[in-house]
Amino acid sequence: MGATPRNTDCIFCKIIGGEIPCSKVFESETVFAFLDIAPVNLGHALVIPKGHYPQLGELPIALGNDLLEALKVVGNAVMQAAKAEGLNIGMNNFEAAGQLVMHAHFHVIPRFADDGLTLWPSKKYTSMDEMNSLAETIRNLIK
Ligand code: 5GP
Ligand code: ZN
Repeated sequence: MGATPRNTDCIFCKIIGGEIPCSKVFESETVFAFLDIAPVNLGHALVIPKGHYPQLGELPIALGNDLLEALKVVGNAVMQAAKAEGLNIGMNNFEAAGQLVMHAHFHVIPRFADDGLTLWPSKKYTSMDEMNSLAETIRNLIK
């Protein structure tokens, strides 16, 4: 992998560089994790690559192992520390999906059966044809 990209205007790059304080929970050569300042539940952490990559699409595949390992280690510790019963891992990509900080990050959110949060509402396909046709379009784009 090449040199780690940095963005001097990025709040998460500043946190990694120590210019902005944070409550750090994990650090490796390539990955950093700290508590979200506005947690969904207490213990909500953010796992981020040290390099400045805006969204999932820019993340180098070579970071996959390190990110997955950090998500597992941090997720396990967050669950234990918060005495949680469940765990959500989430990633917002682009403004329309709720991404506010344009440095790719994974939310690690401890969950409780009675925490009152609900997941996304669901929609319906008008037919199996519509669903299969969309699946075909997606498959063709992946090829
Ligand atoms: P997004 O909406 O981009 O997926 O999530 C960005 C997250 O970063 C939000 O949950 C927000 O609370 C958190 N955040 C933004 N600025 C700071 C900060 O300066 N420190 C910490 N610890 N979290 C931050
Ligand atoms: Zn950044």
